[in-house]
Amino acid sequence: MASLWMQVVYHIESLTVGEIFISILDVLLIAYILYRLLLIIRGTRAIHLVQGILVLLFATMVSGWLNLSVVNWLLEQAQFSLLVAIPIVFQPELRRALEHVGRGRLFGPGIAFLERSDLEQLLKDLRRAIRMLARNKIGALIVIERESGLGDIIETGIPIDGRVSPEVLVNIFVPNTPLHDGAVILRGNRVAAAACFLPLTESPVDPKMGGRHRAALGITEQTDAVALVVSEENGAVSLARDGTLIRNLDEDNMQEMLEKLLSIDERSGVFSFLKNGGDTTE
Ligand code: ATP
Ligand code: MG
Repeated sequence: MASLWMQVVYHIESLTVGEIFISILDVLLIAYILYRLLLIIRGTRAIHLVQGILVLLFATMVSGWLNLSVVNWLLEQAQFSLLVAIPIVFQPELRRALEHVGRGRLFGPGIAFLERSDLEQLLKDLRRAIRMLARNKIGALIVIERESGLGDIIETGIPIDGRVSPEVLVNIFVPNTPLHDGAVILRGNRVAAAACFLPLTESPVDPKMGGRHRAALGITEQTDAVALVVSEENGAVSLARDGTLIRNLDEDNMQEMLEKLLSIDERSGVFSFLKNGGDTTE
């Protein structure tokens, strides 16, 4: 251990200031890319794959240390088969990811990429939409994507990819129309999809609570998204985040909470400064 440390110190001493700077930049860039990838896959089925691979790598390391040669050999073979299996099993996801890179929007345009003025407009539009929905007791479920990618959820619905406006949001939820059943997903200031199916909460809840509210809890347990619910039974507005439902919000309270949850300072901690100059258009 000590000799390894000496080697590292010796190596660092032999570097020029420029080389040290480049190495630090290198490490920071990799850390940032890994961080963004982790946020994108959090809440999608790919996260389970990553967890599985980490367990496999850890088990291989442990079996190596303990000299369990047969187990170690088997685990190494399993890793090799994974190298072949992953591109086959995840072929559609990989293709989509590469297409995104090709179009230069691997990381956007989510809520974190909105300019202040666009965010303010989005909040105003949401306020008007929720007011109209609540007054008319039109049941609605609106999910706002934050850092976790909701690509998997968007795929369960009908793609829309249109600018958010109160009229569009209200129209989607009018009963007995093709898109009203399910959730709308907002990505940045665009409606990504409607009629999406969300995971239901697995926590014990009030047995009187119906599917819409359970779905709002479910998606916010699994991701960092924010969900707004308008009840068709009584027009009450609720907001769900981190698996908690805040019920019977008035307009001002809802606005205040959304402002806080979607504002630049709250969006991504230490990394927000890197994104504030980001693209806002598709
Ligand atoms: P409300 O107060 O509006 O009646 P609720 O919580 O009692 O809401 P339900 O009455 O069961 O919920 O509402 C059913 C509607 O909720 C469905 O028609 C559908 O639009 C929506 N919904 C139910 N489950 C899901 C789900 N898993 N994902 C998305 N939307 C869902
Ligand atoms: Mg109900």
